[in-house]
Amino acid sequence: MTHSVRSREVVRVVRGRPTSDGAGVRLVRVIGGDELPELDPFLLFDEFGSDDAADYVAGFPDHPHRGFETVTYMLEGRMRHRDNHGNSGLLRSGGAQWMTAGRGIVHSEMPEQDAGRMRGFQLWVNLPAKDKLSPPRYQDVDPGDIPEVRAESGARVRVLAGALGDVRGPMQAPATEPLYLDVALDARGTFRAPLPEGHAAFVFAYEGELEVGLRGAARTLARGELGVLGRGDAMGLAAKAEPARAVLVAGRPLGEPIARYGPFVMNTQEEIAAALRDLRAGRF
Ligand code: FE
Repeated sequence: MTHSVRSREVVRVVRGRPTSDGAGVRLVRVIGGDELPELDPFLLFDEFGSDDAADYVAGFPDHPHRGFETVTYMLEGRMRHRDNHGNSGLLRSGGAQWMTAGRGIVHSEMPEQDAGRMRGFQLWVNLPAKDKLSPPRYQDVDPGDIPEVRAESGARVRVLAGALGDVRGPMQAPATEPLYLDVALDARGTFRAPLPEGHAAFVFAYEGELEVGLRGAARTLARGELGVLGRGDAMGLAAKAEPARAVLVAGRPLGEPIARYGPFVMNTQEEIAAALRDLRAGRF
C-alpha cells in the first residue's frame, strides 16, 4: 500500500521575547506576546530556564485561571502547586501537569528549591465554549509515567500527550486532541512522525539547532526559535553535527472567538466581566 506523504514545512519562525510574570519570574514568551498572540488552540507558550535562583525563586503566588488549560512540563527543578479547592502536587524534573482550569481556580506555582537549575515550559490550551465552565481537573504525571520511544534513527521521544504509533502519552484533552512530544536527537539523528492533517502544530528548538521538514525542503531552527508548521500530514526533524532537542506540539483548532483578559480566556467580553465578578465574589 502506498501513501502519499505531504510534508509539513515551517511557514513562520518566531523568536520569543524575554519578559517576567508571576512575582518576577524571568521567562521567554514565544506564543502569547505581540509577535504571535495565539496559534489556535494554543494561547501561550513560555520557556523558563535559569541557574540563578533570583530569576525564579519569587514564583507565581496566588492567581486565578478560567476558561482554558495550562500544561507545565518541568525539564529540571521542582515546583509546588496548590489551589483554593485543596488540590496540591509537586512537579519534579521530567514530570508534567495538565490542569484544566474550567470554571475557575485560584492557585500558586512556587519553586520548591532556592538554588540550582530550573527549566521547563508552560503551554496554555484553549477550551471550547461548551467546556469553559467545566469543573477543574488535574492530570499530574510523574517523570517515570511518561513513555519514551527509542528510534534507530537516533531519536528518543517522550510522549507527554497524544500518541506516537502504539504509544500513548498519559495526558489527554478530548476537545483539542493534543500531541505533545519531547524529541532528543543524537548528532545527525532524525525523527519523522505523522501529524493529524487539520491540527495546528509547532516545533520549538530548545537545545542545539535542527532542521524541520522532509525531503530536502528543510528549514533550520536555531535554539530558542519556534517554527509554525504549515499544512500536511507528516513532519520530520533532523539534527546536524551536534545533538538537539525540541518539543513538538499539535492540537485541533477550535475556531471560536477569543476574549482574553490576563488569566481569563472566554468567548465574549460579557463572559470576561462575569469571570471578574465571580472571582471577586469568591465563586472560583
Ligand atoms: Fe497558573
